[in-house]
Amino acid sequence: MSTTVSATADLTATERARILAKSALFDPPTAGLPDGRRDLVGMSRAELGQELAAIGEAPFRVKQLWHWIYHQGVTDFARMSSIARPLQEKLADRFVVGRPEAVTVQTSEDDTRKFLFRFRDGQEAETVYIPDREEDRGAVCLSSQVGCTLSCRFCHTGTQTLVRNLGAAEIVGQFMAARDSYGEWPSPKGETPRLLSTIVLMGMGEPLYNYENIAKAMRIVMDNEGIGLSRRRITLSTSGVVPMMDRVGEELGVNLAVSLHAVTDELRDELVPLNRKYPIREVIAACRRYPAASNARRITFEYIMLKGINDSEAEARALVRLIAGLPAKVNLIPFNPWPGSRYEPSTRAAVERFAKIVNDAGFSAPVRTPRGRDILAACGQLRTESRRERRLA
Ligand code: SF4
Repeated sequence: MSTTVSATADLTATERARILAKSALFDPPTAGLPDGRRDLVGMSRAELGQELAAIGEAPFRVKQLWHWIYHQGVTDFARMSSIARPLQEKLADRFVVGRPEAVTVQTSEDDTRKFLFRFRDGQEAETVYIPDREEDRGAVCLSSQVGCTLSCRFCHTGTQTLVRNLGAAEIVGQFMAARDSYGEWPSPKGETPRLLSTIVLMGMGEPLYNYENIAKAMRIVMDNEGIGLSRRRITLSTSGVVPMMDRVGEELGVNLAVSLHAVTDELRDELVPLNRKYPIREVIAACRRYPAASNARRITFEYIMLKGINDSEAEARALVRLIAGLPAKVNLIPFNPWPGSRYEPSTRAAVERFAKIVNDAGFSAPVRTPRGRDILAACGQLRTESRRERRLA
């Protein structure tokens, strides 16, 4: 028994090392500007300390700068009033507090706001703010990669090849730029309601194929002296990169969402091709081990409703059997067709029947209300449009 366990652990460690090595091949360019200045956003406290030490500044400056950058949201050193003018100028000569450039901002009739951000090397990624309809709060959906390797059949981003991973600065920068857009600085303290109250890592890309940058960005976001978002307000959504799921649980402890979408390997192999590598039983086993899961913090299973493909009553019952005993909820997502997509959304009646079976088994099964339908709502569509326009231009 113990031999099997250690053999499995070795295998997982090897697989994890392979994933991280492959991910490093898609690392973003360094955070430097063409004029040699460096971006302070995205640096850990230790890195910030090293940069400051290199210009002869004392360690206490880290705390000071951190407060201005992540609590006050200030990007101009001249506005950092607790720092003397000569040091402000010295910092401005060497550093910037950057933001990605918002190339497109679309606000839907239902107030969903979609951003297309451009980074320093000209690459672009999407960010969406989805306000809560009842309360003054909402979720910011962040991208983790430019493009994606995974080619999930129902996903528009899956039609784009992976260009590169986003760096920690670009991941945190999406959130900070979204906050700029709502004037939501300084960071609200404690439980004060805030508009941008949660983060979901569910935009373009598979976050667990960019783990190091995601982890670094989330540590910055969770730091209490800055943005201070608790781990309970962050959800990482994965297609099921099993060897990395354990690491997220142990190191970050954020909420976990899994893009399940099918209850048999045969169908999931087609819809989420990563399933050929990490089949359903392994994904569910990783969910059962996930340390941050509890009744108060349930694992979310994302299930996109595709007409005649995965929406039968038998599949709803199979889903219930699959997740039995897990602290889980199921998000039923109406499919949002995009040009060239091969699926149709399930009928309302089929969704309701499916939801009832899952609900009756004791799992919450909300049907996600389609948001932002009047703007280019499918993830990845804005970037495709922007690339098309640039080619035409
Ligand atoms: S659903 Fe996520 S993981 Fe799958 S192709 Fe789309 S962006 Fe990539």
